[in-house]
Amino acid sequence: MELFKLYIQPYLKQYKWLMTITVLLGMMTVLAAALLNFTSGYLITRASEMPWNILMIYVPVVLVRAFGIARPVARYFERLAGHNAVLKILSTMRVNLYDMLEPQALFVRSRFQTGDLLGTLADDIEHLQDAYIRTIFPTITALFILLYSVVALAIYDWLFALWIGLCLSVIVFIYPIFSLYFLKKKQMKEKESKGKQYQSLTDAVLGISDWVISGKKDRFIRKYMEMSEKTHEAKREIAFWNHSRTFQLQVITGLILVFVGLWAGHQATLGNILPTYIASFALVTFPVLESLVPVSHAVERIPTYEESLQRIDSIKRTVPKQNDSLRPIERSERPDIEINHLSYQYEAGRDPAVKSLSLHVPFGQKIAILGRSGSGKSTLLQLLLGVRSSTDGEILIDGEKPERYGENIYDVIGVLNQKPYLFATTVENNIRLGKEQATKEDIERVIRQVGLDEYIHSLPKGMDTQMEEAGQRFSGGERQRIALARILLKDTPIVILDEPTVGLDPATERDLLSTMFSVLQDKTVILITHHLIGLENMDKIIFMDHGKIKMSGTHKQLLETNERYRQLYYLDRG
Ligand code: ATP
Ligand code: MG
Repeated sequence: MELFKLYIQPYLKQYKWLMTITVLLGMMTVLAAALLNFTSGYLITRASEMPWNILMIYVPVVLVRAFGIARPVARYFERLAGHNAVLKILSTMRVNLYDMLEPQALFVRSRFQTGDLLGTLADDIEHLQDAYIRTIFPTITALFILLYSVVALAIYDWLFALWIGLCLSVIVFIYPIFSLYFLKKKQMKEKESKGKQYQSLTDAVLGISDWVISGKKDRFIRKYMEMSEKTHEAKREIAFWNHSRTFQLQVITGLILVFVGLWAGHQATLGNILPTYIASFALVTFPVLESLVPVSHAVERIPTYEESLQRIDSIKRTVPKQNDSLRPIERSERPDIEINHLSYQYEAGRDPAVKSLSLHVPFGQKIAILGRSGSGKSTLLQLLLGVRSSTDGEILIDGEKPERYGENIYDVIGVLNQKPYLFATTVENNIRLGKEQATKEDIERVIRQVGLDEYIHSLPKGMDTQMEEAGQRFSGGERQRIALARILLKDTPIVILDEPTVGLDPATERDLLSTMFSVLQDKTVILITHHLIGLENMDKIIFMDHGKIKMSGTHKQLLETNERYRQLYYLDRG
């Protein structure tokens, strides 16, 4: 609600006239459709009565034509006005955000290279387009249509109008509100059970549960599988709800049609309306219902907009305050990372997210960080990048605090995320973002390194293939490889892989990991992961818990000394 006030309401106000016109045109579209059906109904009935004079049906024929043309015309202008309004809003929003980020332009530019900040801005603001076009406009239009239909009916028969108003309210209010509530709950359940799954895996390794000692390995595995099952169940329930809701709404729609038909018939026998109009009244119901039914679907999208708004909001918050006037230091070639009693607390009074953590990572070391959700992995990453400053203790990268590097930190540390942002331009340009002055040979080389050369050269346009053209063509694994090529081109001495294989199938995951390890051999690699796959390539594995290092060692050591690690390792390998 707060986010709505911050990011939606001001724009609604600023462009209220364009909004009003859009809604009015939306109503006109429905009205034209209703009148079209009304006159058609009349025309059909009239024509079947064998009119003695062609003029009797001539006027309705003309009207049917007129409304038939008016409907698409109104719809066209409604779309035009709606998109115009939305494009204006989105561009204003972008300008506002830009103005806000501009003082930190250097920071923003350096992020541009990894692209995820701009990716979020581009994707999430784009997504808000739907908030207006698919949710706000249709919902407001539907509310007016509901009101208008009830008032129009009340002129004939207020009691019946009341009844129909009640039925329509079920479609416009009850179902949408219930959909929203239900979906939110289900989505939360899905998230929660996913979190639990991760947690139980790390708990098991850390020895909090005693499943090995007590010889209950099978039970643990079964439980773990059950948890997976639960996550899927939530997804299934959402799908089932969608199907059954469509069915229920159709039944209600059918019932309303029957009511209107019966009512019109009754009115005709009472002599209140001519029998010629019975079909007309029934037919009018169609376009009206058609404009009301989609409200449920429109409203249930609200949580996804909330997520976008939250991301936009969090960017606003994480962009650091403009730093001192110190000149940022240049990148270093073989930096060590030294972490001394590092602590970070988000809010006073709360448990620190990172607690007196010490760690030495000599240049070239490969280190994996595991730990349940909320154990502080991402916080540590942000501290490393200097996006946040430690509350206590320090990080030294080649003897300097990360903040001292300023924008140059991204020349020292490359980050590969779960979902790297690839821009809507050619494959070559996307890779070139890593280093603008790179030669064609440089780019060819990194493409070869990440194992994409054969594939890319098999495409008709090769490196000039548009990313979005091939949107379907580039799989998740291939997209990660392109992002990896970008990082290789940039040639940072340290590379952070933040759950780079989430969402890939095990075979692709293994392939991608092995490519990563081979091409990043001469660099420091920090891999954040939830899986035990590929850990045999690491020099050191640490398990984080509550902001601390709970356990660490090499893969071999852990295999030998930690029974749970061994079991889970083989379990994860399938
Ligand atoms: P995950 O595996 O889910 O990504 P994580 O290990 O990356 O988890 P962090 O994101 O570092 O965990 O979170 C560590 C702790 O800090 C958690 O308790 C979390 O609730 C808290 N935290 C994270 N970000 C913020 C924030 N922006 N404001 C306040 N608290 C935060
Ligand atoms: Mg995280």
